[in-house]
Amino acid sequence: MGVGCSSSLPPTVNNPHCSITFPHTSAHTNPTSNHLPINWLARAHLQKPTKSPISKRLFTLDSARKTPTLKCGRTAQMEIEGGSDSKPILDLHSLDDNLVQKMVYDALVWSSLHGLVVGDRNVQRSGTVPGVGMVHAPFALLPTVFPENQWKLACEVAPIFNELVDRVSLDGKFLQESLSRTKKVDAFTSRLLDIHSKMLEINKKEEIRLGLHRSDYMLDEKTKLLLQIELNTISTSFPGLGSVVSELHRSLLKNYGEHLGCDVNCTPSNDAANRFSEALAKAWIEYNNPKAVIMVVVQPEERNMYDQHWLSFNLKERYPFILFMTQPLTLKNPFNTHNVTMIRKTMAEIDKEGEIQPDGTLLVGGHAIAVIYFRAGYAPTDYPSEAEWRARLLMEHSSAIKCPSISYHLTGTKKIQQELAKPNVLEKFIDNKEDIAKLRKCFAGLWSLDDADIVDTAIEKPHLFVMKPQREGGGNNIYGDDVREALLRLRKDGKEQNAAYILMQRIFPTDSATFLVRDGSCHKDHAVSELGIYGAYLRNKDKVIVNERSGYLMRTKVSSSNEGGVAAGFAVLDSLYLT
Ligand code: ADP
Ligand code: MG
Repeated sequence: MGVGCSSSLPPTVNNPHCSITFPHTSAHTNPTSNHLPINWLARAHLQKPTKSPISKRLFTLDSARKTPTLKCGRTAQMEIEGGSDSKPILDLHSLDDNLVQKMVYDALVWSSLHGLVVGDRNVQRSGTVPGVGMVHAPFALLPTVFPENQWKLACEVAPIFNELVDRVSLDGKFLQESLSRTKKVDAFTSRLLDIHSKMLEINKKEEIRLGLHRSDYMLDEKTKLLLQIELNTISTSFPGLGSVVSELHRSLLKNYGEHLGCDVNCTPSNDAANRFSEALAKAWIEYNNPKAVIMVVVQPEERNMYDQHWLSFNLKERYPFILFMTQPLTLKNPFNTHNVTMIRKTMAEIDKEGEIQPDGTLLVGGHAIAVIYFRAGYAPTDYPSEAEWRARLLMEHSSAIKCPSISYHLTGTKKIQQELAKPNVLEKFIDNKEDIAKLRKCFAGLWSLDDADIVDTAIEKPHLFVMKPQREGGGNNIYGDDVREALLRLRKDGKEQNAAYILMQRIFPTDSATFLVRDGSCHKDHAVSELGIYGAYLRNKDKVIVNERSGYLMRTKVSSSNEGGVAAGFAVLDSLYLT
């Protein structure tokens, strides 16, 4: 495995940074409209794109010790404390190549030994047989600098978003009506809505509700606002590997701290895998059938299986101990005799092996299922035949706890995100005005394509927008000139197709020099980051059992790339260096 670290300069970065002040959506600055004020556009138009130089200065001089100190990870600005004329001591280019290569080598060994791995796409069976064809997950060599106040903000709103998802999920009419036009033009959303309708018809109640979410944000460079990209309610990935990469960075900072002069405590440890496992185990307890298992719904081939196995491993080997230590033994908590077992099934297998008993219990391959944890089922490709749709319906009919239920799934769609950003909509679901204000503050501009003014604006200035279909999983959005083309095409095709998309304000995070490690090689490039905050929510009737922030995921991608998925090959796993 080569660890050659090419420190060549990156290719030209085409990220158009526009100095705009977006109306954070709308209701935040203008409570009566989420239309884009015209003056922001004039400003955006007038200002030239800016690009931060790759030679961001990395080290700071600690005035007390007069030694070079990596103040805040890889993008810290050089400052002399107390002094105004800051001078660069060492920039990223002058980070000693030997030191970088040593760190890369150590990081690759650490990753292999600690399960920071994914299936290697070059090995045929790597997506089906664990232990065959593993390669380290792509990662950033050093954690990304992030302002602590913004991090705290993102953490603070996590339980509010959890609660919001729960409340919205209970409003079947709102979900159906908001998605009614999308239903006509998007076959996939239409099938999901059909299942939802069926559940409404039979008045199916989900009394125990489990959500394992992740709210993703980018920090807008100009406005310094942390704006939500999306809220994931199904198959939120990387709680496992995200936790491990934070430990990798902490290990590097500890081992190379003397050279880098940075403080390992600025990289928060990340307990996403533990928290998600714990929430799953608590849901299992609420289901109250000691013989039942947790079922992970998986894709037939899954190169990101180790991320999922981290949760199964925790449940089987770690969590019983944690629970034993923290909770009194009761009849509902028979952990002295049972571990929690996770089984993995594809949708096709569930169709073949699944049945529902008269009392509503779902049996799959003879196992009673307490909790269904979806790591598949979010994309049309997960439903290649009617068998998968039958399986989804069967699961929804059962008494098993679904993570997510069809209502939670629909609540996480991009159309619902846009509806929730409209004026006075959050108020339907949340009482506390301060909470509403906090959520609104993270909403970016979001619009339906029925808004003719915004469509005109987007045709004129497509690079200020992202156009999104109702899809999950990366690689589906439309950017730049393609936005204009797509909008002009839709204009010709007629109004109906509009409902398949939403328009979103494009967020421009600061780019900075980064070492990206992929396939055993390290290269330096301009990159931008996206912060995800996991949230776990568990409720049994009126009792909220878990409502917490549950660790984080930092993903970093070269700034010339529009999309950001790690599994999709655009981004690397990363962690935070709080300043
Ligand atoms: P998906 O469901 O496919 O993950 P997202 O809405 O998260 O869809 O978009 C995918 C990626 O596109 C994000 O991870 C981010 O990198 C980029 N992206 C999405 N929305 C925006 C935006 N408004 N501004 C800038 N980049 C965006
Ligand atoms: Mg996303």
